[in-house]
Amino acid sequence: MSSQPARVLVVEDEAAIADTLLYALRSEGYAASHCTLGREALALLRQHGADVVVLDVGLPDLGGFEVCRELRTFSQVPVIFLTARNDEFDRVLGLELGADDYVTKPFSPREMVARVRARLRRTAPVAAEEGGWKQLGRFAIDHDGRRIRYDEALLDLTRYEYALLAALLQRPGAILSRSQLMERGWDHASDSTDRTVDTHVKTLRAKLRAAGAQGEPIRTHRGVGYALDV
Ligand code: CA
Repeated sequence: MSSQPARVLVVEDEAAIADTLLYALRSEGYAASHCTLGREALALLRQHGADVVVLDVGLPDLGGFEVCRELRTFSQVPVIFLTARNDEFDRVLGLELGADDYVTKPFSPREMVARVRARLRRTAPVAAEEGGWKQLGRFAIDHDGRRIRYDEALLDLTRYEYALLAALLQRPGAILSRSQLMERGWDHASDSTDRTVDTHVKTLRAKLRAAGAQGEPIRTHRGVGYALDV
């Protein structure tokens, strides 16, 4: 860890939600700041930047989507959308606009902090690289040897499982659609269906559990795809 705490900007107009979030983030040692308007957020980000932005979709002035679109003209800071509407259109549009993740209200502060941590890990420089192994959180990958470890345990993977996990490890935390995963992992993507991806994810999850993974490192985003928490 660097000595500077990571800076998180929370853009949320509902005071109760903002307070809960700020409290949770600060208890974890993050330097969390807050504003309630989209234009204010853009001005702050232009001036000071941030390490992660938590951005409410429903803001009183500019909508969160509009803020994100504008933000992407000058910054690649990771954005996590907060959305009250649990519909697919929002998620897909949000991801297309360059958001990195989204959380649907109501959410638990713990979950939110975990998402923030995952985004920061993704943008952090690679901590260790030794003997062909590249460490990414609890995972380590050896591209040349086509091998992946989880917590030091070497995973016994099929060719497709390896390709899938390697694709997810390229961008930890980012949501990849089934077709993106097929493009990256399959020689003949047209022979496969979404179901093929789901089947390999299922066997992968079983192998990760056997290697001691708690919870589900491979997260399902219904209607969108999969993301990996490292
Ligand atoms: Ca709102």
